[in-house]
Amino acid sequence: MAAAETFSITTPIFYVNDAPHIGHAYTEVAADVLARWNRQSGRDTWSLTGTDEHGQKILRTAVANGVTPKEWADKLVDEAWVPLLKTIDIANDDFVRTTEVRHESVVQAFLQKLYDTGFIYDGEYEGFYCVGCEEFKQQGDLVDGAGEFDGQWVCPIHGRPVEVLKEKNYFFRMSDFQQRLLDLYESQPDFLQPDSVRNEIVSFVRRGLDDLSISRQSFDWGVRVPWDDSHVVYVWFDALLNYVSALGWEPTADAPAFERFWPSNHIVGKDIARFHSVIWPAMLMAADLPVPRRVFAHGWLLVGGEKMSKSKLTGIAPSQITEVFGSDAFRYYFLRAINFGQDGSFSWEDLSARYQAELANGFGNLASRVVSMVGRYCDGILPPATEVTEAEERIHAVLASAVARAEAAMERFAIHEALAAIWTVVDELNGYLTEQEPWKVAKDEERTARLHTILYTAAEGLRALAVLLSPVTPQATQKLWRALGAESALGSLTDQRIPDAGEWGQLPAGAVVSPMEGLFPRIEQEATV
Ligand SMILES: [Zn+2]
Repeated sequence: MAAAETFSITTPIFYVNDAPHIGHAYTEVAADVLARWNRQSGRDTWSLTGTDEHGQKILRTAVANGVTPKEWADKLVDEAWVPLLKTIDIANDDFVRTTEVRHESVVQAFLQKLYDTGFIYDGEYEGFYCVGCEEFKQQGDLVDGAGEFDGQWVCPIHGRPVEVLKEKNYFFRMSDFQQRLLDLYESQPDFLQPDSVRNEIVSFVRRGLDDLSISRQSFDWGVRVPWDDSHVVYVWFDALLNYVSALGWEPTADAPAFERFWPSNHIVGKDIARFHSVIWPAMLMAADLPVPRRVFAHGWLLVGGEKMSKSKLTGIAPSQITEVFGSDAFRYYFLRAINFGQDGSFSWEDLSARYQAELANGFGNLASRVVSMVGRYCDGILPPATEVTEAEERIHAVLASAVARAEAAMERFAIHEALAAIWTVVDELNGYLTEQEPWKVAKDEERTARLHTILYTAAEGLRALAVLLSPVTPQATQKLWRALGAESALGSLTDQRIPDAGEWGQLPAGAVVSPMEGLFPRIEQEATV
């Protein structure tokens, strides 16, 4: 018997020292929408997020704040990261922290396995180390310092001098995996997407791979190397393993969750695509484990033309947006306005304009009008459609096509295309009401059957929209679902299957339609500036 189709998805684990900004929230929302969509498509689904808590910089900040690094991380998780998930309505299945025992024990077991099989050796490393990046830099990657750093090599990302470190290190034989990685990119083109990132990584790997230094002796905030406790594991090597530690992978015993959900899909920012598509699969190959199902790199959010980054204080807190527009609008806006995989610009003006045009006037107003007309003309009891004409058949066809196109787009993680396809139904239904003018038909007692058909068609269209948009705007669609009487007639919204959403006639005549507050309330103009 074939196992149920599964879908598992991860975000990068967030560097706990960062302040959450809209870039983090964007990644979270994209992964969450894909998880909800797949779950509602009937797949056995699992989604993971979490925090990266080791490394020299966290140690230094904790010391500067007079607490232990673990206390520091606990505070940030409680005060910043868990609240972020709530702010943007994320329904993750697990949250992994790299300081948890379940994670640290996997890092050690994994490392030991690679050591025992000869993929790790000891050597000496001397290089330029950027504490901000937590990595050694090639000289060619550095820039000349200016001002107070005149005459020194400076990290181009952090703008601060790098340190020269020389230490005994353990090395991972990454160079062994060059050909296998190239074969992977070749044989499984969707392993790494979009193509722009894939091409860049392929040429990087073609130039040859160095072995990777995977331990540090200069500080001790990290996972101990199991056979040499004077070393801690390099933070990236440690952090990448969260994707399997959260699934309870073990080298020797059965791990049911790992069997069930690995390999996962990884959503990452393109700046960390190299770690996920070169180092990570090489690590897995060395351990004889399957590589990820897919690594999808999204673009950067630009604000005023500048990249949102962890080291520049241009970050906008997600709550600044959700407090004005709500979490549904946040989720919708970033996934609709930006082609997923490409860079995109954020502006308050664009957010405000799309909120007004697409959510409030487009979808929200459609829902309010239909619900209130069923109340006014039919005492809140959904009438049957008995006079199906070409106009109604056109709605059925537009819906069926939208579902098919949205499903195909979501398979490719083209979330913006899926939303555009679903929005053809919103636009079509608005056009239908404008054309059919049910408020005029209602004045003619001879045309009651026609009025009923129009109202049924519009309400049934909204039923489908609630299902299709529930992964993106879960709160508004839930309100609409209840108001349509669909909860009692058809069961809970999240139990509705997306592939069946286009099947016409599910909402039964006789359903009790009840008054509904506006799905996307009017925003006071001054609040947005
Ligand atoms: Zn740096």
